[in-house]
Amino acid sequence: MKYSPVTNFINGEQVSGDGQILEVFSPVNGEVISEVPLSSAVVVDKAVDAAREAFPDWSTLTLKERVQIFFRYRQLLEKYRNELTALVSEENGKTSAEAAAEVDKSIELTEFATSLPQLCVGEIEVVSRGVECRSERHPLGVVASISPFNFPNMVPNWTIPNALALGNTMILKPSEQVPLSANRITEILVEAGLPKGVLNVVHGAQTAVEAICDHPGIDAVSFVGSTKVAKIVYKRATSNLKLALCLGGAKNHLIVLPDANEEMTASDVAASMTGCAGQRCMAASAMVAVGKVNAIIDRLCEETKKIVPGKNLGAIISKQAKERIEDYITEAEAQGAKILVDGRGTTVEGRENGFYVGPTVIDFVTPDMKIAKEEVFGPVLAILRTSTLDEAIEIENNSAYGNAASVFTQSGGLAKYVVEHASAGMIGVNIGVPVPREPFSFGGWNESKFGTGDITGKSSIEFWTKPKKTTTKWNPEAKTNWMS
Ligand code: NAD
Repeated sequence: MKYSPVTNFINGEQVSGDGQILEVFSPVNGEVISEVPLSSAVVVDKAVDAAREAFPDWSTLTLKERVQIFFRYRQLLEKYRNELTALVSEENGKTSAEAAAEVDKSIELTEFATSLPQLCVGEIEVVSRGVECRSERHPLGVVASISPFNFPNMVPNWTIPNALALGNTMILKPSEQVPLSANRITEILVEAGLPKGVLNVVHGAQTAVEAICDHPGIDAVSFVGSTKVAKIVYKRATSNLKLALCLGGAKNHLIVLPDANEEMTASDVAASMTGCAGQRCMAASAMVAVGKVNAIIDRLCEETKKIVPGKNLGAIISKQAKERIEDYITEAEAQGAKILVDGRGTTVEGRENGFYVGPTVIDFVTPDMKIAKEEVFGPVLAILRTSTLDEAIEIENNSAYGNAASVFTQSGGLAKYVVEHASAGMIGVNIGVPVPREPFSFGGWNESKFGTGDITGKSSIEFWTKPKKTTTKWNPEAKTNWMS
């Protein structure tokens, strides 16, 4: 094993797990690189005790004092950029360029957290003679962050800098498939000066997550992962009267109109469907081709053929995930769809035990097919044909998900029509991956998100804090009235 076994990190110390041990594979070559403990409720209990103990001192520092740690953390992320990039690439399988972009995004997220003293200012107003109202935001207490496999560095950084800078203490439960980056992030935060107990990492899977949802010492839970588990976590955490924000899966539709710029559309759609091997919640999954767009589809196929597994296309997280993706393609073909580019049965020379699926483009998919409805989470694009824009919008609107949707056109009026009618939280115009950059917030609609607010940017301030409203009267001359 290249890396020593992963341990939990509680109250500034490494703490062994108490249950089953799972092997950690590198999807790049299928080798076992480490092992991770599947911790029990007892470990969660210890982590909550540490976070509760750290909360009074941490939360009474000023916001300006707390963000000093994130200024240092940001510099350290830059210092260790290459090492963090290599770790992400190794445990998740994405290409070095994609892993570096992920670390850069974590730097941007941290920069946003350092701006919180400018954004999280209170309000005060004289509401009647001699009486003023003031509103300020307070941390929630101990919060939990549960993360998925596809962004081992970035998704923990969606929550850690903002939630901690705003005065909370945290239990992080990373994906058991990619536990290494989370521990390295934690070490770097300690190096930046984070006091012990403020961030605690519990490794594990279902049992640890259930213990988090049930623990009375945890005030709020954020979750990022599949819709199936997002629903379970949202229901369980809120039924235990916790605040919860749970981001789920996606099925993003790209509507392509005949007047779209051929070159830009083809390369953007190809990049969106294959980036991170299609394992991102903003990936193009379905292209709705309106009218005569055959030239764009031909060019798209040419573009996808330039994307080579093991070179500029990363690996799929596991053998099971690779098989699941290939099953979707095979089923669509059996139902009458036409495979224009086929990525099944891909191997990479020298990495024969790695998990790879090549870019796959499937034409003449119909809305009733499984591949049109479900999240595939691989480098696979299903093309659905329509003759009108309204039919295309109807297909997008009928999706259970609602993370992202994009339109490709040169017409401002038609673009506006799609922006107004698409049922998704993040919309793109001539952009394949419409991620809102800081200070805008990240979050979808429908079954792509449960709970109010978004997970990053300005909107996250409302999730990670609670408002306190104070009404004050100091002048005894103010007459007693109905609000005295
Ligand atoms: P997942 O739902 O399998 O796992 C997410 C987390 O939940 C992990 O930490 C895992 O240990 C835990 N978990 C798994 N099964 C559980 C169960 N039965 N009970 C309790 N906890 C459980 O997701 P994944 O496969 O790691 O990640 C891929 C998914 O995440 C995709 O669906 C993708 O769209 C989604 N995702 C969404 C966003 C977003 O912003 N909406 C961002 C990234 C990923």
